[in-house]
Amino acid sequence: MSRKMNWFVGLGILVATLNSCAKPDAQADKRWYKGNLHTHSYWSDGDDYPEMIMDWYKTNGYQFVALSEHNIIADHEKWVSIAGDSLRKAALTKYRDRFGDQWVEDQLDAEGLKIRLKTLEEYRPLFEDPGQFLIIQSEEITNQLGDKPLHLNATNLRELIEPQQGESVVEVLQKSIDAVRAQRERTGTPMIVHLNHPNFHYAVSLEDMIALQGEQFFEVFNGHPQVHNQGDSLHIGTEEMWDLVNIAYLKQNKPLLFALGTDDSHHYHRKGRTWSNAGRGWVMVRADTLSPDAIISALEAGDFYASTGVTLSELSVAGGTMKLSVAPEPGVHYTIRFYGGLSGEDHTSLLAEHEGTSASYTMEPNVIFMRAKVLSDKPHPNPIESLDTEMAWTQPVLNRG
Ligand SMILES: [Zn+2]
Ligand SMILES: [Zn+2]
Repeated sequence: MSRKMNWFVGLGILVATLNSCAKPDAQADKRWYKGNLHTHSYWSDGDDYPEMIMDWYKTNGYQFVALSEHNIIADHEKWVSIAGDSLRKAALTKYRDRFGDQWVEDQLDAEGLKIRLKTLEEYRPLFEDPGQFLIIQSEEITNQLGDKPLHLNATNLRELIEPQQGESVVEVLQKSIDAVRAQRERTGTPMIVHLNHPNFHYAVSLEDMIALQGEQFFEVFNGHPQVHNQGDSLHIGTEEMWDLVNIAYLKQNKPLLFALGTDDSHHYHRKGRTWSNAGRGWVMVRADTLSPDAIISALEAGDFYASTGVTLSELSVAGGTMKLSVAPEPGVHYTIRFYGGLSGEDHTSLLAEHEGTSASYTMEPNVIFMRAKVLSDKPHPNPIESLDTEMAWTQPVLNRG
């Protein structure tokens, strides 16, 4: 049997579980929820209070946020020192103005003024609203191997996961993935792990990603200005990495890798290309309710897309046909591209390109998987790298025909 035949036989066990919720009748009771799964506050190296950050996301059209701090969960006593730092003083003034002196807990000791950070359980009731806004507990598992930062987000975890040690990038990442999966199994709580910014310090190579087991998500777009989403003259960008990983995963009978857009926001007072600000990239998830279980279930089914500004009004996959429509904004021009992995090819190809707000594509038998990308000519309001216009990425789907 040829290698190609093996690949096709292996696909048979994968296709049954994918896109089952993408049928139009099953979507009737679902709606799209906008969320950011990667955010930092004073609990680690962000520069604002969690309440201020939640307030920003809630009033800017998001329905869910995961505060994902470096190796820490917001469940214990922690104080932030204000003395001698003008930015922290300014942040405190905004915090007091917004939430009042009654809410803000301060302390003056020999080291100066300190503010106690509220735990997730303390600030959660201020924002959560059934069907409107949800906060998901998270952690950025922040491993370091030599000069390589190896970060993964664990979304909806119950207990802190310590950074892992290992001899190689793959070993450290794999141990982190396994720790999340073990916690999920032990607690019975749905949770996911995703690989963050592989090109940050160019720490995670394509070969590293291909070697991972059980890695179902990564960030095709991360809004931090130092993560090299687009790569450089020596390194491929995350989008190309995504396709190459999927070609390799399918050959190894692994499920397709899905891609997220996230902010990785740290800076809430200074804005521009050199800061990691809120509002740059997100996911739109189609779920029947706004709950951690429903959001995670939809993510695992691939029923979501990543965006830096483009909104879809329709997205369906049935019988090997992907159909999508953009929710157009006045005066904006859209280009819809379909990319696919062809049988026997070691890279993806541009299958079709449409100018306008709606398009569909039906996979020929030689197309193994496909995905769509929507480009626009609308300037991103706060871009990084040369990603100057708004776009969106659907998840890849297998050819079931
Ligand atoms: Zn990180
Ligand atoms: Zn981060």
